[in-house]
Parts: sequence; structure tokens; C-alpha cells
Amino acid sequence: MRLQGRKALVTGGSRGIGRAIALGLASEGADVAINYLSKSGPADEVAQAIRGLGRKAVTVQADVSRFESAAGMTAKVIESFGHLDILVNNAGITSDKSFVKMDPDSWRQVLAINLDGVFNCTKTVLDQMIARRYGRIVNITSVIGQIGNFGQANYAASKAGQMAMTKSLAKEVATKGITVNAVAPGFIETEMVETIPEKVRERLIASIPMQRFGQASDVARAVVYLVSSDADYITGTELSINGGLFM
Ligand code: NAP
Repeated sequence: MRLQGRKALVTGGSRGIGRAIALGLASEGADVAINYLSKSGPADEVAQAIRGLGRKAVTVQADVSRFESAAGMTAKVIESFGHLDILVNNAGITSDKSFVKMDPDSWRQVLAINLDGVFNCTKTVLDQMIARRYGRIVNITSVIGQIGNFGQANYAASKAGQMAMTKSLAKEVATKGITVNAVAPGFIETEMVETIPEKVRERLIASIPMQRFGQASDVARAVVYLVSSDADYITGTELSINGGLFM
């Protein structure tokens, strides 16, 4: 129970990696708010599972790409829990196309959710973390932000931008009891990678030293570590969870 009494918000916590993170935090004793965009059913199911563990859970609909929506969400969560100790910026999307075919809308949408979303949510919780002199922020980046990928210029830029922001903010709040870190997953078995064609999938697996995709729980365990007291002296880092794909 490394997170007993902690209050956490996981954006995009209803499915995939976010779901595993929400459950991982709760299983270590945290109360967890689960944000989703469009589908309340999966968020309710995660909340039920967390209550089953004896922790508090709330679900909150919000579009992280819109500042007012993110601000409304964090206000609601702080009202429910009293305060927030942990923010996991996990919500993210892909919209893949070669750069030649990529239109401005696709570029903007991915940057708006993946990068502006991290700014919006962090901005609206940071003051109360500074006031309480405690905070743990983890941003879910990607191996694609580290190495780039064909058809993912928008996604890679958003994730590399998240990491640059992570380091800058880590420096700004280092003396205020707040750590800011990132976890960079490789290819993880979620709906996001289910759309990869079988042939490409086989090629990708062949390029991973461990010869398999990761599980959402592999990422969740890294997040739990970074927000626990075991990682109190770690800030501004990007922890890769990628089976050796990028070293
Ligand atoms: P996923 O299964 O597609 O789930 C996405 C989650 O984000 C859902 O809960 C979704 O809610 C929510 N969401 C989407 N747009 C949102 C918005 N504008 N505002 C609030 N919530 C929003 O994704 P995933 O594969 O678990 O990925 C989670 C994170 O890990 C992302 O940041 C992704 O870039 C990163 N990542 C994933 C992989 C991978 O292999 N899967 C690898 C590296 C990094 P609704 O269901 O309500 O729409």
C-alpha cells in the first residue's frame, strides 16, 4: 500500500493503458478519478472495480484538449477528493498519415489532445500542488517521440513536446515537493495498436528484442513506481517500457 490516502486523476483512464494505471494506483491504496471523453460505460466499470478494492472512485467526462473542459474536470475532482496528489496525463490519440498526405486538421487534433491536453490538465492542478508542497505528475509519452515513425509526424511531435515540457516543468517545481516524469511505452496491446495491419505487426514484433508487444500493466507498474516514495529523488526523467525496442 505505497499510495495509501493519495488522491489521483488519470486522464483517459477508462480504457487501455489509462485503465491499467487507474487500477494500479488504486491497488496501492490511492483514490482515483477516471477521466474519459465519449464512452461513460468503460469508465464506470473501472470505477466499480476500484470501489471493489475499497478505494474511492469518481468518473469525469472532459475533453482535455479544451482548457475550460480540463479546468472544469480538475475542479470537480478536487471538490470530490479535497485535493489532488497525483496527475497522470495519459489521454492521447493517433491520426496517422504520411507527411505528404497529412492535413492541417489531423496535425492540430493530435497536438491539441496529446500536447495542449497535458498543458491544460497540469496547469489547472499545479497551483494547489504548489500550495500543498506535494505533487506527482507523470506524462505518458511514447517511443515514437524518441525515434520518430513513418506516418506519425504529428504524434511524434506531440510526444517529444510532452517530454520537453516534462523536463522544463520538473526544473521549475523541483524545490516545491513536486516531481514531473514521463513513461515512454513501446508497442502495448491496446485498441490503439489493434488497428496495425498483421504484416506490419509481425515486422514490428521482429524488431523488438523481447519479440513481443507489452501489456498495459507493464506501463502501470512503472507509473506506480514513479508516483511512490520509492521515486522521491527522481524528476525530469523518461522511463522507457519497450522490450528493448529503443535503448
Ligand atoms: P486507448 O486505448 O485508445 O484509450 C484512450 C483513452 O483516452 C480513452 O480513455 C479515451 O476516452 C481517452 N481520450 C481520448 N481523447 C480524449 C480527450 N480529448 N479527452 C479526454 N480523454 C480522451 O489508448 P492507449 O493505447 O491506452 O494509450 C494511452 C496513452 O498511451 C496515450 O497517450 C498514447 O499515446 C500512449 N501510448 C500508447 C501506446 C500503445 O502502444 N498503446 C504506446 C506508446 C504510448 P474515450 O474512450 O471516452 O474516447
